[in-house]
Amino acid sequence: MEKLGTKIVHQYEQSSKLDDFYPYVSKISAQEAVSIYVFYDSGNNNLVNMFSSSLGLEVTNIDSKKKIFTEYIKNSDITKPDTFIDSNNNVNEFIVYMSFLDERNFIIGESGFPIYNCNVYMVIESKIDPISAELTILNQQILFGLILAIFLSTLITYYISLRISYPITKICEQATKLSSENYDTVFFAQGYQEIDDLADALNHMRIELAQTTELQKKLIANISHDLRTPLTLIKSYAEMVRDLSFSNEEKRNKHLNVIIDETDRLTLLVQDILALSKLQSKIDDIKKEEFNLSELVKRTVGRFDILTQRDGYQFILNIKHDIIINADIRKIEQAIYNLLANSVNYTGEDKIVIVNLFIKNSKIRFEVVDSGKGIDESEIEDIWMRYYRSKDPHKRASIGTGLGLTIVKEVFVSHGYNYGVLSTKGEGSTFWVEIPL
Ligand code: ADP
Repeated sequence: MEKLGTKIVHQYEQSSKLDDFYPYVSKISAQEAVSIYVFYDSGNNNLVNMFSSSLGLEVTNIDSKKKIFTEYIKNSDITKPDTFIDSNNNVNEFIVYMSFLDERNFIIGESGFPIYNCNVYMVIESKIDPISAELTILNQQILFGLILAIFLSTLITYYISLRISYPITKICEQATKLSSENYDTVFFAQGYQEIDDLADALNHMRIELAQTTELQKKLIANISHDLRTPLTLIKSYAEMVRDLSFSNEEKRNKHLNVIIDETDRLTLLVQDILALSKLQSKIDDIKKEEFNLSELVKRTVGRFDILTQRDGYQFILNIKHDIIINADIRKIEQAIYNLLANSVNYTGEDKIVIVNLFIKNSKIRFEVVDSGKGIDESEIEDIWMRYYRSKDPHKRASIGTGLGLTIVKEVFVSHGYNYGVLSTKGEGSTFWVEIPL
């Protein structure tokens, strides 16, 4: 308003006639949405109205205004522009001392006579201009709000980063412990969903890792045992042939046969390890071809003839039709052989192994059924794992490496076949595979 006042005063000083000045004030009044009053001091501090304009309209309350401003002039030094707020009416008023009228610069009064020797004042009244005061308050509020917002956001950021980073730091510490083979480390980081999922995944990995390490240790123990036993036998029997039985044909042949059997055992062990590592490293791609599965099963059972003739094992074959499939014959043969070898190893006193091959529900189903001890419920999942061996001691009719079922699993998985085992403790086990027609 001060600016506006200065502008109007300037125009007043520039105007040669009041007739030029009044329309200007009317215009400003309308433009700026303010009421403008121009008074002269008739003496005795009694203001007389020269002009008034309220938003360009006629003003009706001049008398009360006059009274208020007269009071004001009496009590204030009005040589300077001033602002006061009439709190009753909630208006903001601004008073400007405009000029001193003398003989050179006078106006014609209502009586028709020139008026001079008095002061001229202008009052600008605005109902909508408490802006500067409010702006100051607003500025202060904004500044306060800003500081508060910065403080709060720093606090929240710190809290959130702590919430995010703390569980991660904790998991890192636990992972470092795990890296030094401390498998008892449990990943626990209560935080948010993602970190909980990560902790779960790491816990799962920890268990798997512990099992794999354990199994690998077992493998080394198993393999070294499996290698050492035949090697010791081979050495002992070779020494016996050299030193004792070389001249006795019967004994010599017996000893040489043991050497040959043990060499076979070693060869098979090495073959199994090689086959598995090839399967798992995917070096050996599946080479599919059409072949007669019924024939293949019969031929593979035939490989156990020595056991049937020598040790009284009996295979009961339930194969009624020729069934043709498209698969990798070499790998399927290996899987069938491993399943048959296991059944022979683990079947019961009756030494019977049943082999079923049939079509059911549009699927070819191959089963190897034995009458052995069966497999403990808790071990069913584990037997397919590399190097897994049951805690139960068992007799061995043929050679086992602890890798047999892992090879079976790799072969069936690589062909996309469903497979599994049904087993009842004390009754026996049925290993099965289903091949889509
Ligand atoms: P291996 O027979 O040389 O120990 P496998 O991988 O063939 O190794 O078998 C893993 C384990 O699964 C065996 O040690 C045994 O405990 C169990 N298993 C396999 N076949 C049978 C079966 N027919 N009956 C009972 N247990 C079996």
